[in-house]
Amino acid sequence: MRKEACLVRPLHDGAVQCLVCDHACAIRPGEVGKCGVRYNDAGTLYLMVYGRAVSINLDPVEKKPLFHFLPGGDILSIGTLGCNFRCAFCQNWNISQRHWADGHDARLGQVALPNDLVGTCLQRGVNMIAYTYNEPTVFFEYTYDTARLAHENGIRNVYVSNGFMSQQALEMIAPYLDGINVDLKAFSNDFYREQCGGRLEPVKRNIRTIARETDIWIEVTTLLIPGLNDSREELTAMANWLAEVDPDMPWHISAFHPDYQMTDRPPTPPASLQQAYQIGKDAGLRYVYVGNVMDQDRSSTFCPQCGELLVRRSWYAVQELWKKRGTCPQCDYEVAGVWT
Ligand code: SF4
Repeated sequence: MRKEACLVRPLHDGAVQCLVCDHACAIRPGEVGKCGVRYNDAGTLYLMVYGRAVSINLDPVEKKPLFHFLPGGDILSIGTLGCNFRCAFCQNWNISQRHWADGHDARLGQVALPNDLVGTCLQRGVNMIAYTYNEPTVFFEYTYDTARLAHENGIRNVYVSNGFMSQQALEMIAPYLDGINVDLKAFSNDFYREQCGGRLEPVKRNIRTIARETDIWIEVTTLLIPGLNDSREELTAMANWLAEVDPDMPWHISAFHPDYQMTDRPPTPPASLQQAYQIGKDAGLRYVYVGNVMDQDRSSTFCPQCGELLVRRSWYAVQELWKKRGTCPQCDYEVAGVWT
């Protein structure tokens, strides 16, 4: 199944430029963009994985991770093949690093059109959909059509993204997007170039835009990789920047486990996670969380004003949730997030 791509600029001799992410690939007839799923067929660009989901699950929203967005709820989560990054440490590499034409048709996943996904939500009483597992920008038209239909039916939409979408794509999806978790993978352009095949600046630009100029609720995640992005200097610069953008933006520090092409490094030691957590708090971020390991205190939510426990979590499970959503029951502090 395929659909004509949007945000395309014609070039010469049948070539087109895809304007969905910041790579802005120039694609000649018969070729695909860097993401492997946007194909130029005789001068027209198509998304080749439209309506084809390789993964569909019902996940806790905390797993995205989103901790200040309807906590304790289930979210229908879908992903396709393809990605615009090439991270050596990708945990979903078996779907993200695939070309649409790899193997036979079954590799594209099951047919799940926007009305199928929304229908599933309505049938099961699920009120959110996440575009996740691989980068949602690369299957933009599929997310856009589904998100619009979801909104018409009172269902909210969430991206779990590397933040490398173009400004045009962000503007187009923003009215239909309610929440987003953006990976801030490091705070150096060298890391983005060498480890991911991307660039840092567009990611920073999009985090700032989303936090300050849209109604989309945003949380940020950093996977802490020993020896690559975990120095005190880099984390301090990152945390200071995040706090300057918005101190209410939750920051998730996630533990690395060896995977894909990065098996030469150990898992993140607990001491590094704790140090990063403290750096975030010292920078003035009100909500810092440690994830991908068992650390109940650092994965629970406390009132930034009086310290009252508001949400107790264990891994991704919510064990206790305060009743007066959005307001601390002890001191009436307004806790940032989407609670109802
Ligand atoms: S979405 Fe794919 S084809 Fe389009 S610019 Fe990004 S990598 Fe290139």
